[in-house]
Amino acid sequence: MCYNIPMNLNTSVETLSGVGANYAKKLHKLGLNTVEDLLLYYPRRYEDFSTIVPISKTRPGESITIKGNIWQIANKKSRNRRMTITEAVVADDTGTMKVTWFNQPFLTKSLKMGDEIVLAGKPEFNYGQIVMISPAWEKLSVDLKHVGRIVPVYPETEGLTSKWLRYQIKPLLKLVFNIKDPLPETLKKREGLTDLPSAVRAIHFPNNKLELAEARKRLAFDELFIILLSGLKQKMGMAKEKAVSVPFEENKAKEFVDSLSFSLTNAQKRVCWEIIKDLKKDHPMNRLVQGDVGSGKTIVAAFAMYLVAKAKYQAVLMAPTEILAKQHFDGLSKVLVPFGLNIGLITGKEAQIKRQNSKGKIQNCNLKIKRGELIKLIKEGDIDVAIGTHALVSDKLEFKSLALAIVDEQHRFGVDQRQALRKRSGLGEGSTLQERVEPSDGNFPHFLSMTATPIPRSLQLTIFGDLDVSVIDELPPGRQEITTKLVSHDKREAAYEFIKKHVSDGRQCFVICPLVKESEKMDLKAATDEHKNLSENIFPNLKVGLLHGKMKSKEKEEIMNDFKMGKCDILVSTSVIEVGVDVPNASIMVIEGAERFGLAQLHQFRGRVGRGEHKSYCLLFTNTNTNFDTTTTKRLNTLVTNQDGFKLAESDLEIRGPGEFMGTRQSGWSDLKIAKFTDIKLISKVRDAAQWFLGKDPELKTVPVLKEKVESIEYARE
Ligand code: ADP
Ligand code: MG
Repeated sequence: MCYNIPMNLNTSVETLSGVGANYAKKLHKLGLNTVEDLLLYYPRRYEDFSTIVPISKTRPGESITIKGNIWQIANKKSRNRRMTITEAVVADDTGTMKVTWFNQPFLTKSLKMGDEIVLAGKPEFNYGQIVMISPAWEKLSVDLKHVGRIVPVYPETEGLTSKWLRYQIKPLLKLVFNIKDPLPETLKKREGLTDLPSAVRAIHFPNNKLELAEARKRLAFDELFIILLSGLKQKMGMAKEKAVSVPFEENKAKEFVDSLSFSLTNAQKRVCWEIIKDLKKDHPMNRLVQGDVGSGKTIVAAFAMYLVAKAKYQAVLMAPTEILAKQHFDGLSKVLVPFGLNIGLITGKEAQIKRQNSKGKIQNCNLKIKRGELIKLIKEGDIDVAIGTHALVSDKLEFKSLALAIVDEQHRFGVDQRQALRKRSGLGEGSTLQERVEPSDGNFPHFLSMTATPIPRSLQLTIFGDLDVSVIDELPPGRQEITTKLVSHDKREAAYEFIKKHVSDGRQCFVICPLVKESEKMDLKAATDEHKNLSENIFPNLKVGLLHGKMKSKEKEEIMNDFKMGKCDILVSTSVIEVGVDVPNASIMVIEGAERFGLAQLHQFRGRVGRGEHKSYCLLFTNTNTNFDTTTTKRLNTLVTNQDGFKLAESDLEIRGPGEFMGTRQSGWSDLKIAKFTDIKLISKVRDAAQWFLGKDPELKTVPVLKEKVESIEYARE
């Protein structure tokens, strides 16, 4: 309230006139603490009240703005006396308009006969008269905020109305010129962009549509430019780091490929080739392999690890869960041990090795050893390929000559864990790669991440801009389509009968319980309750198992193994089994509360079945009434009609935004406010600009404000 204190961008919202403790609290909840925050709180949409229409030209049903004098204004009670009705008559040179408002008795205090007023709304026919009901209004002034112009409509949350926000923000606009413009003139000129202060002013109170379009263009550019710069800069930085060059020996590669029980798909061959080329370079690969569930990413990883191990370096693979790590350990050993490689498994608690027997007779000799011993063997270089969970990045682990780090299902990991793994080669403290491989120089390992989440092209360029992306866009031959059905509440009985029939035919079934708002505890409860219900009420004669993230790893593994061996018919689980697990006899996937998951994720669950020879089904249980064509039904139906993970990902991006894909990249990333992650055309254009700009100033030395913004994103990415 202190007007004598000069306001600036850092002035806290509390000191603004009209912002009491109550409003301040609401603003803080939205993260709006300073004047600058308020200025950067953009409208969601606009109402165009800019054209003022003579009253005689108004037509019922058309949104219009009129300007006139109040001839009459008075409150009266409704017939049942529960409501106050304010009735007014407003006149301009061409005619009169009746106006009513409900339950705003104070209006007669602010509006008096003779006042000049601007009204915006939709006149309608009412008892043979044209009336404007509850129009937006404002007394005529040179500084109209609510009518007579293009009017901003803000996201109305936390009990903050657009009207209130307009009232607060308009007087702050005189401060926009204190906002520092991060872009240099040359760039603005090249891209035809207006300056930032003008854009911020116009995004709130544009004088016309052209100005609004210019403002949106500028602000959208900035949002994308910063993300793209960050990615490209990161990429350039990595390109300067050193890594060991892994030679490609064609005959050895051929030996490996010939040893497989199947031939690689063309897509797999292409991706292998991309990796070969990366590994040969003496700076680190940073590649993401993306391939639908079942597309065969593991063998591509195995191939890369084989090349590295044959060149006498070590490779490491990190899986998101112990079950998956174990599965990879078993699967990869089968293809790698016959070539004389030693494979180690290291998880939170256990350690195992598979290698050829010293007499060369018994292959896959399986040794349980102490964790400490395995850690020592890895350090001494006796283990060629280490597989594990995030226990791999525990401080103790050192490699003798790590040249390749692979992360499976990368979106499931924290960025810090991936980063730690990447640094475990040469740059991390106490690593020995430096001494053994490149004595005078730090080496990064080549880095490969794998994901089944298809990442739309627009996100590859933006959020994943620091990575090269390879796509396995082909499934191995003979894969069957999985029949997908939406099951609303009233169809449950029938679905349960369907499951019983399949189980009696010898098949097995997964039941995934819904995610309860990110809370593990609630997840657990949902799964335990469902397990109880299914085992006691629905399938009392079947064996129903339960698997959840809170279990001890040993327990999890036993349950998963029992399920694999067919010792239980139905496995109820939280979303922990989302990735990777292979149970060929499971032919039905039930997903409870399907509406709570993203399409890409549902598609991944679905990929858990159809891995064997049996016709497989995915049943999406939902509590919404699927007879109605709601958004939810439509969204889930996309899954019913579509088996292509890529297409599903695109619709996910459109419907739910990029959160689904960011995984842990999310932290610290602000969502786009103006630009759209689906706007590939704009993204490509801004990317060109970012590349051009980095070509001139790779370290962003000439643009400190921009640099700071880019670094704040880099920080979140790290
Ligand atoms: P994902 O991409 O989901 O990780 P996996 O690597 O687990 O898929 O492969 C799924 C299954 O397909 C495995 O059993 C694997 O042995 C098999 N597979 C992989 N590539 C081929 C291929 N080219 N031909 C036939 N089967 C393959
Ligand atoms: Mg996999």
